Amino acid sequence: NTGRIYAVSAAPMAEGGAVVVLRDITRLQQMERTQKEFVANVSHELRTPLTSIMGYVELLIDDGNADANMTAQSREFFDAILKNAQRMGRLTEDLLVMAKVDSGEQKINPAPVRVAALLQESIAAASGLLKDDARLEIAAMVDTEVMADTDAVVQVLSNLIENALNYGRGAHGSLVVMAAEMVAGPPSMVKFSVRDFGAGIAFEHRERIFERFYRADKARSRESGGTGLGLSIAKHLVESHGGTIWVESDLGRGSRFCFTLPQAPARSNPLPDEEQAS
Ligand code: ADP
Repeated sequence: NTGRIYAVSAAPMAEGGAVVVLRDITRLQQMERTQKEFVANVSHELRTPLTSIMGYVELLIDDGNADANMTAQSREFFDAILKNAQRMGRLTEDLLVMAKVDSGEQKINPAPVRVAALLQESIAAASGLLKDDARLEIAAMVDTEVMADTDAVVQVLSNLIENALNYGRGAHGSLVVMAAEMVAGPPSMVKFSVRDFGAGIAFEHRERIFERFYRADKARSRESGGTGLGLSIAKHLVESHGGTIWVESDLGRGSRFCFTLPQAPARSNPLPDEEQAS
């Protein structure tokens, strides 16, 4: 054991036997680790100055609202500074989550949780994004429990809702339809889905949008103010629960993002609060 890491590839030869090639990738792995640590440190260091920029701009905007002499142009510039600082804030937060994922620090703690509670919490988390012409509906909801880390699953669902609202906007505003249905087992899983009626996603992008920073439509995505990390974080979180995530899309008619989570084992004794509730 030399402490070195090798990539092994083998090819069989026509006359029997095989060629085995060893490549020393120790340095490559070290470089990758250094790069990931660098990203984590930079994101962390950017947090404090960004919070300060946002705080001061918010004060200037408040002052401006009270000051009749403030020009419309100054107001517009302050709004642009705030919007961009908020966007950088989202990016640093997402980069920090990615760094935690890479270092194995991002732990999830699945416990039995009701499907209804997950849907309700996600809708509440995304409600700030709902504009007047947007509607959110629940088409189907199975009455059961899944094994889930509530915070993680709410992050996944609210991210999908946010994307559906951003990219699913049609001529008549946006409609987002959610559902949670049983999938025949074993193992018994619950399938969550978030459907929109927007432009949809071309076939060649359907796998790749779950990669870090991959964007199907660069101009439109940048406009949306997102970071390009949402779906890769969602994929990691779903897979850490033992589930899978995918997208079905009809180009021009919208997309349906689906993911599965394991159903919680049936309990013989209901919890005391459930007894009270019934
Ligand atoms: P972001 O939205 O911040 O760009 P995401 O990882 O959430 O990053 O999404 C990656 C890309 O997938 C988006 O840039 C967009 O091109 C595409 N996408 C995601 N959700 C939808 C959707 N509901 N409809 C159409 N395209 C989508």
